[in-house]
Amino acid sequence: DANPFKKMPTILMPDELMAKALRRGEKVASEMRKKELPWLLKARFVEEHKVRTIASVVADNLQKVIDKTPPVRKLPKFYQEMVEVLVGIDDFKKSMGAFKWASELVRKLGNEYARKIRAARTPQQAGKLRKEFVGRVKSILEQIHPEMAFVAVAREKLKDLPTFKDLPTVVIAGYPNVGKSTLLKKLTGADVEINSYPFTTKGINVGYMEAIQMVDTPGLLDRPLYERNDIELQAILALNYLANLILFIIDASEFCGYTIEEQINLLKEIKELFKAPIVVAINKIDLVDEERIKEIEEKLKEVGVDKILKISADKGIGLEELKRFFIANCQIN
Ligand code: GDP
Repeated sequence: DANPFKKMPTILMPDELMAKALRRGEKVASEMRKKELPWLLKARFVEEHKVRTIASVVADNLQKVIDKTPPVRKLPKFYQEMVEVLVGIDDFKKSMGAFKWASELVRKLGNEYARKIRAARTPQQAGKLRKEFVGRVKSILEQIHPEMAFVAVAREKLKDLPTFKDLPTVVIAGYPNVGKSTLLKKLTGADVEINSYPFTTKGINVGYMEAIQMVDTPGLLDRPLYERNDIELQAILALNYLANLILFIIDASEFCGYTIEEQINLLKEIKELFKAPIVVAINKIDLVDEERIKEIEEKLKEVGVDKILKISADKGIGLEELKRFFIANCQIN
């Protein structure tokens, strides 16, 4: 259930990979030189092993990148969307294709040159064939240099994506200081995981409650959308693939610094943006009187909210009902 990109290995650039392969080739060759063999046989033997070693170091390294990179189309939609937003799915796929092409070609050339070297008539010829092989590998790697650089950057971006489980998920929204993180902690226990999300410096908080995943997204669903740039908007929209239910929190006391009207305006925006049903929790009811709560409820009904719960995250009021509501209403669609 981890971030599927965490296993991607460090991507070596052509020079680094070539240097690594040549080093290993030289090491193997120096072992082979110790053997007692007639001079021509030995020259062929040494060069053949060098070529095979270089070929397999390069081909294996490229293949490993392919093997450890999850196929985008098989990923949960949320991660697919992240690849699209952060690096572009088509370019990512094309780059992986270049790795495959180069890996297979280097392996094939390795076999070809090993065969030719075994038939060499002089040690000079064997050496010349090996040099020719090295030159061809270098130029293959140079050819995919842009793709290697692209995948290296993509990996940097993707490896820090948050880790979400494939569970029914409640995404929490609402202005800052309305009580989102207090509630998340109360409902899911102390060990709320803080994950990074590439579009916000604040990190995304994830907790679990009876096989329900709860996600608090500081910096994303806590201010009006007109303040957002395109990338942020896409990052917000990607949450659609995660959310089975949106929990919008309203601070009845307005101590958060936003009026009820402002909070309801944000709620309206979020309602339009998300496909998942919305439940509103009026929070901090310990700080206001019954009458005020009624007023807020009326206003919410006017904008078409039909499910409203009244809670105090801090004092632990109404949380059992909220829990029961989640369990009854949060199914994987
Ligand atoms: P977030 O920014 O939405 O995550 O808000 P926090 O969870 O950090 O809460 C902001 C402030 O409101 C904190 O000082 C909380 O202790 C306080 N708070 C949260 N819920 C309640 C509540 O139900 N009643 C009272 N009195 N204070 C609350």
